[in-house]
Amino acid sequence: MERHDLLDALAMHLGERGLLREPDDMTRYVADWAGDRLGMPLAVARPVSTEEVVDTVRLCREHGVPMVPQGGHSGLVAGALPAAEGNELVISLERMNRVRAIDPINFTMTVDAGCILENVKQAAAEHECEFPLALGAQGSCQIGGNIATNAGGLNVLRYGMMRQLVLGLEVVLPDGRLWNGMTELHKDNRGYPLKQLFLGSEGTLGIVTGAVLKLSPRATQARTALLGLPSLEAVIELYGLARRDCSDLLSAFELIPRRCIELAMEATPSLGDPLEQHYPWYVLMEVTASGPLDLGAMLEHLLEQGMARELVLDGALASSESQSAQLWQFRESMLEGQRRRGEHLRTDISIPISAIPAFVDAASHMVMEASPECEIIAYGHIGDGNLHFNILPPRAMAESEKRPHLHELESRLFEALDGFGGSISAEHGIGRTKQAAYLSRLSPVERELAEGIKTLFDPEGLMNPGRILPPRD
Ligand SMILES: Cc1cc2nc3c(=O)[nH]c(=O)nc-3n(C[C@H](O)[C@H](O)[C@H](O)COP(=O)(O)OP(=O)(O)OC[C@H]3O[C@@H](n4cnc5c(N)ncnc54)[C@H](O)[C@@H]3O)c2cc1C
Repeated sequence: MERHDLLDALAMHLGERGLLREPDDMTRYVADWAGDRLGMPLAVARPVSTEEVVDTVRLCREHGVPMVPQGGHSGLVAGALPAAEGNELVISLERMNRVRAIDPINFTMTVDAGCILENVKQAAAEHECEFPLALGAQGSCQIGGNIATNAGGLNVLRYGMMRQLVLGLEVVLPDGRLWNGMTELHKDNRGYPLKQLFLGSEGTLGIVTGAVLKLSPRATQARTALLGLPSLEAVIELYGLARRDCSDLLSAFELIPRRCIELAMEATPSLGDPLEQHYPWYVLMEVTASGPLDLGAMLEHLLEQGMARELVLDGALASSESQSAQLWQFRESMLEGQRRRGEHLRTDISIPISAIPAFVDAASHMVMEASPECEIIAYGHIGDGNLHFNILPPRAMAESEKRPHLHELESRLFEALDGFGGSISAEHGIGRTKQAAYLSRLSPVERELAEGIKTLFDPEGLMNPGRILPPRD
């Protein structure tokens, strides 16, 4: 009865298009990119304005109904999936997709949180600016989701993560109050940085409804190269050389193992082998600039040095936008190739950059000893020390055995990571899937502080309960 009252009240505030109640209409909101799903929500609210989000949250609070903020559901830790119990209201920001303002002199853009990242990048480009966050899911993920997960992606080594790209925020708090922190200031040292608490909080402290984003000048030229290298040690040495030799204009430096090149070609058969011979490791790197610089000469000089030191064995240099897009196609298609292999272990870890070869060596030995039939595919954003050390289970393994087996390997991998002072989550966050590993690594002081923050913002535990921290009893 109570719930019917809530849904009727929501329907009145949000209108017919603003509230979905039928299971057939809600299927789109219950699965994430990987196809994982938990349960059906109570309903899906689709507000069109900050005021409607305020109304929705107030009503939920009055009725004691838990809420799940949802963006483009491309998150990889099940944070936006409604709970199996069917008691949560999904609040989708998809209809809040307005670019509110662009200031190309202040290099800022003010947006609704439901704007899709790709559209934000496009809008910035129309003003000779760039919003540099770039990731595989940019055609579906939303700015609110990027903020809630403190997203990273391909250009972090040059521009930083979302935490460095947001100047102001507007957030509806779990009790329905609105926090207006929409400053356009590049420098602002007034007291505690409240904004930063929401970045990476995965929707557990409030619903982001708007943001002021920091833009950069639009790059007018780019040079991309795909290189073949003999070892991980060579990859790391080349990275240090490239940062220094390219005037710190490196915007991407991606590690790709040979297996991923094969997975990319499986997923996109039109892709030919990129280099004449096979190499154990490849690097996809890009330098970009907006001024009158000779990036081609810069990259060629770097490659000459790399070859003289036997770090680079061969390489393909893109001399046009379409050639560059083709090189990037390997990076994109390899994700699809992995997905087609079905259930596998996806990790998102970080270690100090200089420790990557030693870590990969130690972790690979550990996995191969425990499960010799597995396939390791370790790729990632080298410039951020961020690896996706993923594991494909043996092809012959029964489906029912895969999950527990991979879980066991993950625990061992994380233990190896602890020895290198690494992080179990460099980008994707904790959500539900990394919660146990996260909690077991928190010191008592860290746990007390984390729970104190959650209680301060959400004393009733109604905002995205059970993500990051366990639900309140
Ligand atoms: C192919 C692919 C590639 C990816 N590559 C990267 C990568 O390189 N780097 C990276 O960091 N991530 C990557 N991701 C993960 C994912 O795209 C990011 O986490 C993204 O930021 C999630 O945005 P979303 O809008 O899809 O959020 P959702 O998946 O909808 O939600 C994610 C979390 O944010 C919360 N949330 C969503 N919107 C709001 C809001 N408005 N207010 C408060 N909380 C909210 C949700 O409750 C949930 O906890 C990738 C994912 C895929 C599928």
